[in-house]
Amino acid sequence: MRIAIVGAGVAGCVMARRLALLAGVEVICLERVVRDDHSEAGTGLNIGPNAVKALTAIDPELAESITRASYPWRNWRISLTDGAVLFDLPLARVAEGPGWRIRWSELYRVLREAAGCISYGCEITQIRRDPADASKTSIEWIQNGEDCRLDGIDLLIAADGRYSKVRRTMSGEPLIRHVGVSIFRLLVPDTSNGLIDDYEQWFNGPKKEPDALRAAYTPKTAPPSAQARWMIDVICENAGDTHWARMQEHEMLYRAAGCNILYLGDAAHGMVPTLGQGATQAVEDSSNAAELITQRYSRGDVNVEGWLQAFEALRAARMRFVMEFSLDATDTMLDGADPIKGTMHKNEEPFQSRLKSLYRDVGLPLDGNTQ
Ligand SMILES: Cc1cc2nc3c(=O)[nH]c(=O)nc-3n(C[C@H](O)[C@H](O)[C@H](O)COP(=O)(O)OP(=O)(O)OC[C@H]3O[C@@H](n4cnc5c(N)ncnc54)[C@H](O)[C@@H]3O)c2cc1C
Repeated sequence: MRIAIVGAGVAGCVMARRLALLAGVEVICLERVVRDDHSEAGTGLNIGPNAVKALTAIDPELAESITRASYPWRNWRISLTDGAVLFDLPLARVAEGPGWRIRWSELYRVLREAAGCISYGCEITQIRRDPADASKTSIEWIQNGEDCRLDGIDLLIAADGRYSKVRRTMSGEPLIRHVGVSIFRLLVPDTSNGLIDDYEQWFNGPKKEPDALRAAYTPKTAPPSAQARWMIDVICENAGDTHWARMQEHEMLYRAAGCNILYLGDAAHGMVPTLGQGATQAVEDSSNAAELITQRYSRGDVNVEGWLQAFEALRAARMRFVMEFSLDATDTMLDGADPIKGTMHKNEEPFQSRLKSLYRDVGLPLDGNTQ
């Protein structure tokens, strides 16, 4: 059996490492960037406890390597910039363990080293159905100036991220929904002397220029807290290096029609970043897919279309829940919203019980529920 994976990011690496263990399966993973180039991935990620749980269930060694390279995410606090705390949640109250806080480039390094079988520097030039068997696919690419080609791919896994070329080529442009909110990320040295020691959020308002940012984040009736003061200073000093992004999501699609292609992670479902579930769901997706394929293949089931149907049935409702919840949690950022009231609601039972489902109901183990 031949499995090709496009993209050695979060989902692609988890899949490549796990599927390469299957006897009789040839796994080829094609990555666009060159080896050791993790430079696109500069900022930090908060990866939810649900990803830790899912990955630990299928690949404890890999989960442990990420734990060693990261900080634990144990607490989530939301304050006003004058220091008034609105929400202060130890994750142990809603999850079975901590999440990870890790620099993006560091996560890629750990995952790519662990995956091993990755071909770097591949520029994909053609993706199509195999002329000899329409359920299979065929890929062409250029690597080191040479034309390469692979036919008769039994399963093509598109793990090539939010702007997935595979998905656009084989299933068309996804429907995109803008939320009307922009966010920014900025990676700076920690000169705060430990003022901020876990995941924290502050409210006070937006605009891109340094003066406008300073005015927006400075509280009107009290001095900023020590943490907010440090944040305001570094944000304004580094305004030119800030990475801004529009919040958006795109429609979920896990498999191509009439052809054995599996979409995973951002290629399957771009979502708003409010609850930090993008990379988290890429881990959850790939842990479930790798385990489902392993279980089925190991008992002699090589019906790839059946695998894809079972995976979609397993994941679709869960992903709809995660995408809706992430969107609902964005309420405090919408134009005209009341961030104080909205954040206080997050202390109440409905939000907390949704968080429990988010962080605990990861689908694994699969035996018995993938028939
Ligand atoms: C600024 C920012 C902050 C974020 N913060 C968080 C956070 O705190 N928590 C969280 O959970 N998520 C976060 N996310 C989202 C998260 O990074 C993504 O959801 C996650 O990386 C998706 O994983 P993936 O495996 O689907 O794709 P990716 O990790 O994007 O990997 C895709 C891979 O495919 C490769 N590729 C792309 N096109 C091709 C091609 N044509 N040929 C070959 N290879 C290709 C890419 O080089 C890459 O290696 C953040 C995203 C951004 C932009």
